[in-house]
Amino acid sequence: MAAIGQFDGYIWLNNTFIKSHDAKIHIAAHSLHYAGSVFEGIRIYNTKPFKQLDHYKRLCISAEAMGYSIQYSPEYLCDITNQLINMNQLQDGYIRPIAWRGGEDHHINGHNCTINIAIIAYNPFDLIHNRAHGLRLCIAKWRKAHQTSLPFYAKGSGLYMMSTIIQNEAIQSGFDDALVLDQEGFLTEATTSNFFFIKDNILYTPISDCFLNGITRQTVINEIAPSLNLKVIEGKFLVSFMHGAHAAFLTGTAAGIKEIASIHHEEDIFHFAIHQDILERIKSAYSQLVEA
Ligand code: PMP
Repeated sequence: MAAIGQFDGYIWLNNTFIKSHDAKIHIAAHSLHYAGSVFEGIRIYNTKPFKQLDHYKRLCISAEAMGYSIQYSPEYLCDITNQLINMNQLQDGYIRPIAWRGGEDHHINGHNCTINIAIIAYNPFDLIHNRAHGLRLCIAKWRKAHQTSLPFYAKGSGLYMMSTIIQNEAIQSGFDDALVLDQEGFLTEATTSNFFFIKDNILYTPISDCFLNGITRQTVINEIAPSLNLKVIEGKFLVSFMHGAHAAFLTGTAAGIKEIASIHHEEDIFHFAIHQDILERIKSAYSQLVEA
């Protein structure tokens, strides 16, 4: 059960396959200092990476948002990933592609830095939100930056500073994770996953105008909900709008679809049913898709 830091198999670094303990990056790497890396997380189910082309397309978009380009096409990166899965003999697992500016120049714009890229594909998978009885969430005291402040659509390391702080604070307070509100107090997402709730047989989810429109979120909205004849409403919802909701869940590549048992906000506690009928159908439709 190796964690990513102890993984000792093959990785791909700047177009070469090497053993992970031979991979070195310079301590002066621009992105280490200025949070300029972009990355992805992809799940391998039964030797197959789920929606990997979508993830690599997003990686390229994230890099452009940081002012650099990935010098390999998404299709080429998919091919490399398939080779890595074979080389490391992975049945199930997780893929972590990452691109970053090297240490050639410390001017903040980083224009003279090389662009580096690596892919780690490892196993077994250590699920972050693996709670049989549903997650206990709080509402974070920090709020999302306004949509005009950051390229919120990019999966860039700089945007994860707040997620790290918020999840740490939630765990220290005895919760599994936290939901984050936007500047106006509307619900957005959790620290590393998108948020849905079910009320009167309708699926509600915050509109992704200041946070990552996750690939799992899009799968639920565009593939699963239509296949189950479920109406989806994307909108701006205050915490109080969750009164009367029957079930709630988080979506993300790493977490899959994770049930929420409760959300704690000031004096209010919202309790949700576990194994609720619609949610069970969504979960089983998702399992069928990833295992297909
Ligand atoms: N929001 C954030 C902040 C995330 O880190 C993730 C995980 N990538 C998601 C949402 C869910 O995105 P996806 O479904 O593409 O994994």
